[in-house]
Amino acid sequence: MSPQASDLITLGHRIRHFRGERGLTLDQLGDRVGLAGSQLSLIENGRREPKLSTLQDVAAALGVDLADLLSRDAPNTRAALEIELARAQKNPLYGALGLPQVKVTKGTPLAAVESLVGLHRELARRASEAIATPEEARRANTELRELMRDRDNYMPDIEQLAEDQVRASGHVSGALTHREVSVMAERLGFSLIYVNDLPNSTRSVTDLVNHRIYLPPASIPGGHGLRSMALQAMGHRLLGHERPGSYAEFLWQRLQINYFAAAALMPREASLSFLSTAKRERELAVEDFRDAFGVTHEAAALRLTNLATSHLDMTLHFLRVTGDGALQKGYENDGLPLPVDVTGSIEGQYVCKQWSARSAFTHTNRTTEFYQYTDTPAGTFWCATQTGATDAGEFSISVGVPFAQAKWFRGRETTQRAVSRCPDETCCRRPASEVSSRWVGKAWPSARLHAHVLSPLPSGTFPGVDDTEVYEFLEAHAAE
Ligand SMILES: [Zn+2]
Repeated sequence: MSPQASDLITLGHRIRHFRGERGLTLDQLGDRVGLAGSQLSLIENGRREPKLSTLQDVAAALGVDLADLLSRDAPNTRAALEIELARAQKNPLYGALGLPQVKVTKGTPLAAVESLVGLHRELARRASEAIATPEEARRANTELRELMRDRDNYMPDIEQLAEDQVRASGHVSGALTHREVSVMAERLGFSLIYVNDLPNSTRSVTDLVNHRIYLPPASIPGGHGLRSMALQAMGHRLLGHERPGSYAEFLWQRLQINYFAAAALMPREASLSFLSTAKRERELAVEDFRDAFGVTHEAAALRLTNLATSHLDMTLHFLRVTGDGALQKGYENDGLPLPVDVTGSIEGQYVCKQWSARSAFTHTNRTTEFYQYTDTPAGTFWCATQTGATDAGEFSISVGVPFAQAKWFRGRETTQRAVSRCPDETCCRRPASEVSSRWVGKAWPSARLHAHVLSPLPSGTFPGVDDTEVYEFLEAHAAE
């Protein structure tokens, strides 16, 4: 509701209050200001905006100052409740319930007004509680990251589930094909249907009545994303997910389906066979793993974090950093000191400028991985970074290990070295004192707005999804 509309409700109540004090009827006051009683009534009910000249006339007729008439305060306690009720009934939250508007008159008992207002307050409180605030979202995300760190980013149950599903689809070796993904869906009793009109707020929609999984058109570039999306949709079924009851549960389900899809595209046995051979030959490289399984560099790097500690006897870290140095995703169980905010959250924090995740952007040859040793207060790390770009800008994907484990990786002989003293701010966050004394108070930069990584999802039956669109979509397709 616009503040203007809400002010009109207060204004109307103030006019009615002063009119009552003067003992005037609507028609009597109307006569004095040249308005029909019915028009004055509309103004008192906040449904018509009076002209300034009318207001001046009304103020004069009631013997009050115009400023007094325009005050934003309710004239008395009952009026305050009535104003609050009128506003609440105009709120879309109430409108969505499809219930009638209650018109309060002089004869309405005070207890009835108090009761209605109390219910509206509770409705508003519950609605705001259901929406995950950015703080809640960040906290849930941090807790999940810590949980996965404790588990070395490894989930044996989902590994086994994916392995069984992939084997049953007839897959033998190499990259999982679209055909094999379809077979997996068929075994679950679902058919994969590619459509052009998926609701904007969804990545896929599953019709549980007609057993169909709707996906975006098969012809979109980078079709490997499509296999992953189909697998994620199947993951919800296979893992028995119910509608998430909280934001934390929503994130947990997301993590599980992503894990399932990755474990199906890069099955444990085949991946370990590939990675163990590479390790033995001291030729480990994310780019090779990526190419062998036909996935993105990021997917391969993340998959390595699932298997490295539990099966390859390595600790490691993973970073996805944007062109401006902000951390979008991060994982470590090797002690690399990730930048954190006061809540322990890492997303959106800037990583050290000396780290390979950032220095790779300035490196000229970007077709292959960039390798670097970095001395940090927590020891020396070796990192391999691959840069890329999307419509949203540049990004880098890094995987790294403590110095002693670099010997298994291609690129270990790099002569590229850097020293990082972060979180000490004099490392790369604080300008040199002679420079800052020259410029302090003489610069006015304008910040670029950060599209936040963890903005809260709109509330709804499914977080972040417009269910009306989804149901309409299913209606349209179920008839086919
Ligand atoms: Zn630094």
